Amino acid sequence: MSIDVLTAAEQAIARFAQTKACYTCSFQAEDVVLLHLLLRRNPSIPVLFLETGYHFAATYAYRDRLASEWNLNLVNLKTDLSVAAQETQFGRLYESDPARCCQMRKVEPLMKGLEPYDVWFTGLRREQSPTRANLQVEERHRLPSGREIAKISPLAAWTWQDVWSYLSANEIPHLPLYDTGYTSIGCEPCTARPAEGESLRSGRWGGKKLECGIHTFTGKDA
Ligand code: SF4
Repeated sequence: MSIDVLTAAEQAIARFAQTKACYTCSFQAEDVVLLHLLLRRNPSIPVLFLETGYHFAATYAYRDRLASEWNLNLVNLKTDLSVAAQETQFGRLYESDPARCCQMRKVEPLMKGLEPYDVWFTGLRREQSPTRANLQVEERHRLPSGREIAKISPLAAWTWQDVWSYLSANEIPHLPLYDTGYTSIGCEPCTARPAEGESLRSGRWGGKKLECGIHTFTGKDA
């Protein structure tokens, strides 16, 4: 992997990891790379997982394995409405209105979950999809409450190959779903393998959208 991208990531982490920081982590490959790097600087950084109730069983098992083996300060963010209650009331929103489902199960819990922090680390990368092509390592965002937060994406310039080289070099186990052709993994009903030649996130939401909303609800200041 490129030493340059690793050095740039470590520098961004060194600048921000000791402040009032949190990390949103879905336990995908790049998220686990950044988790590994962050823990070296701040072993107790809050690791925010959006617990929608719709993840793959393999994702839950992998999250719990790392939480135990790496002694994570894991924080599961979720709505008060259970999956069963939501489906009784609204049916399968992930089919009929995925934007509303993501809003209820991801965006609103995250809005509240970010309030205590000044720095928000993410594992986003420019290469992941066209919607992320202009991502900067350091951005200033404004939460709906009006509070400003630094959104830091140390892996912005990393390639898919960089991610896997890092995992391999550090002997870090990966989410087993990657071994069956998935390249971007979220909630089970909204995740499929990408079509040949399409972007890594093209298998999400049946190609109808590329973002769930957790990276678009904040206003970007700079
Ligand atoms: S990704 Fe799918 S199942 Fe998960 S919250 Fe969004 S619409 Fe619902």
